[in-house]
Amino acid sequence: MRFSRLLIPTMKEAPSDAVLTSHILLLRAGFIQSSGGSGLYNFLPLGKITLDKVRAIVKDELDKAGCNEVHLPMVTPLSLWEETGRADKFGSELLRFKDRHQNGFTLSPTNEEAMVNLVRQTVKSYKQLPLNVYQINWKFRDEVRPRFGLMRGREFLMKDAYSFHATVEDMEREFALMEETYKKIFTRLGLDFKVVEADSGAIGGAGSKEFMVLADSGEDTIMVCESCDFGANVEVIAEDETLCPKCGGTLSQTKGIEAGHIFQLGTTYSEAMKAEFLNKNQKLEPFVMGTYGIGVSRLLAGIIEQNHDEKGCVWTKESAPFSVDIIVAKAKNAEQMEAGDKLYSMLQAKGVSVILDDRVDKKTGFGVKVKDFELIGIPFAVVIGNDISDGKVEIINRETLEKEEVLLDMIVETIVEKLS
Ligand SMILES: [Zn+2]
Repeated sequence: MRFSRLLIPTMKEAPSDAVLTSHILLLRAGFIQSSGGSGLYNFLPLGKITLDKVRAIVKDELDKAGCNEVHLPMVTPLSLWEETGRADKFGSELLRFKDRHQNGFTLSPTNEEAMVNLVRQTVKSYKQLPLNVYQINWKFRDEVRPRFGLMRGREFLMKDAYSFHATVEDMEREFALMEETYKKIFTRLGLDFKVVEADSGAIGGAGSKEFMVLADSGEDTIMVCESCDFGANVEVIAEDETLCPKCGGTLSQTKGIEAGHIFQLGTTYSEAMKAEFLNKNQKLEPFVMGTYGIGVSRLLAGIIEQNHDEKGCVWTKESAPFSVDIIVAKAKNAEQMEAGDKLYSMLQAKGVSVILDDRVDKKTGFGVKVKDFELIGIPFAVVIGNDISDGKVEIINRETLEKEEVLLDMIVETIVEKLS
């Protein structure tokens, strides 16, 4: 992609209602923009590219774990919500409306009912089990006070998976598989995270674990063990507890952003909705269920809460909208522009995602290009400046801000090595 052709409206200041770092930086760096409606955002090109990258990692790992991707309508018949009694329980957060025939509908904040409805129409026998179906789809929750940008928007991109089993043991096996799968996703995204025991809350069910992205700005307080992998939300362990229940080690308090949640649901929904299968003895039984969510758009905010500095965003390698920003210092200089174009093609040929800052307008000097690189937070920049006459360019590492002079002949392999 060429910077001059992409809509990237970077700003010096964020609107005054943005207080959380990720909200400020995603607005300033031109990833998102307010749509005019509270808690509703337009994803601009950089935001869309990043969202798609994160989405692809989530999908890749779920597919490897044997899950089935489907796509459900965002508009759900209210009658499904009435079957489980959640039409009443959910209250005003469930946005409801009627169509021209006076049929009631909702904008889905979550899809247990709709997915149970999908499975009860198609799965009739234990031979078709287990089954794990998921979608990555927009959800709507009519929050009283939407705030903090993508952290707590009203519309958000969510990965929601639902598993169906003949036995509790098999559901527990899948729950463990999903925990491992989530660990792979969060690790690939380059996140520092913790899996914690959690309260099952409004969705109901027996066991549940949350995936917390560790960040000082996190809204959740969690207790973590200094000696083992134990961690728990303060909803399930007292804040003044100092001993780890697992190993007896010391517990300490930290802050996290909830980005994933896995539940052992049991038969609550399948019983309420009469979703049954024929077991080995030809008897009808309700499905045993698990449910597994990841806040995909929230992850963008979580990545930035954990990875930023005073200059801007610092995207992790797999989440960054581009891996390399080629900065042509003077784009009007034919030698520099030619070298930039050539490097751009060579990196693309190696499969490196790259943006070429070829802007020539008077306002966009070298300093502005470097500032935009720092604000947007692309992992590496290659600066093509006056030294190109001597066959030399400079690499800037966004995370450390270290600069390194490299021979143009060596640049492709140097970059490929740094990204591996
Ligand atoms: Zn411990």
